[in-house]
Amino acid sequence: MRRPAALHASQLGNKRSLHLAPPFLLDDYTPRYMTLSSVDAAKKRSKAYAHLRNCNLCPRLCGVNRYETTGMCLIGHNVKVNTIAPHFGEEPCIQGHNGSGSVFFSMCNLRCVFCQNHDIAHQRNGQDLTPEELGDWYLKLQEVGNVHNINLITPEHVVPQVALSILHARDNGLTLPIVYNTSAYDSLASLELLDGLVDIYLPDFKLWFPVSSRRLLKAEDYAATARESIKAMHAQVGDLCFTADGIAKRGLLVRHLVMPGFEAESAEIMNFLANEVSKDCFVNIMEQYHPDAYVGKPKSRSKRSAADKDDSASERRYADINRAVTKDEISSVRKAAEAAGLWRFCDPPRHDGFSL
Ligand code: SF4
Repeated sequence: MRRPAALHASQLGNKRSLHLAPPFLLDDYTPRYMTLSSVDAAKKRSKAYAHLRNCNLCPRLCGVNRYETTGMCLIGHNVKVNTIAPHFGEEPCIQGHNGSGSVFFSMCNLRCVFCQNHDIAHQRNGQDLTPEELGDWYLKLQEVGNVHNINLITPEHVVPQVALSILHARDNGLTLPIVYNTSAYDSLASLELLDGLVDIYLPDFKLWFPVSSRRLLKAEDYAATARESIKAMHAQVGDLCFTADGIAKRGLLVRHLVMPGFEAESAEIMNFLANEVSKDCFVNIMEQYHPDAYVGKPKSRSKRSAADKDDSASERRYADINRAVTKDEISSVRKAAEAAGLWRFCDPPRHDGFSL
């Protein structure tokens, strides 16, 4: 897909005051899965079943048959879903007026010690659904919920089931864009399976340095994986585009949750987005970090005596991130993003409408 030509603030002139950036406006939109040929759909179904029989689909590379056992994600050939409902906690361009049709999958292929969705992503609570039952829920969200999109939250470990569910729903009347709401710890193989099925990629790029991601996400290769994944996502769908109602329909929206004391890593991430993805990348710099999951919990006796250099000064686990972020930290990340050349941010609109 050809990406719209880069348009910088200085070139936009008066048009910026309309809050409408023409290269990113669509007259109309048809979800990508609706234009997939029946041959390509059949190939995707067959690849999805093959991945389930020998799962190396995410960077954990477990190599298990998910019809018989589970790998690190602890999820087999069906999905486990915690919540399915219209959701109003997303960006204005995603949730719109009617909400985003959110599907919160249980479990995850990362083990973030500060997980902000700990009760969902680290616990196997929820309902087991086949891919077809999952697809039927998309139709209910469309028909009863009247939502703007289907928003798949933490789906990295259930990509084959997601692909099958989208194809099932499309055959039964789904017409909404699909949002893939991910930690960015995705493999290129899973993104290839999703190519043609997903309209909006919504990755959260968390940390930059391997030493940090090993300690806090339990994945040393996180940033290297996220870099390749985000580039592949952008190659598929380009920069974020909207229809005139202010609802995002296609493209890449990158989130970044600012972490206390990690502004240097945030700046690296902003530089990467500007220089290796696109200066027109739409970015949501998020400030709602709060200590959660394992952060701030008392250390066990055995842990206190172990040589845990990072936290030896404290009786609390992960004491360095056991606080909210400051305004100065948020502001420094925003400045770094602007200095890198990024300009499309998820700011509150200065008018009665959506921010484009
Ligand atoms: S999706 Fe699950 S089983 Fe497959 S490689 Fe990743 S963690 Fe392992």
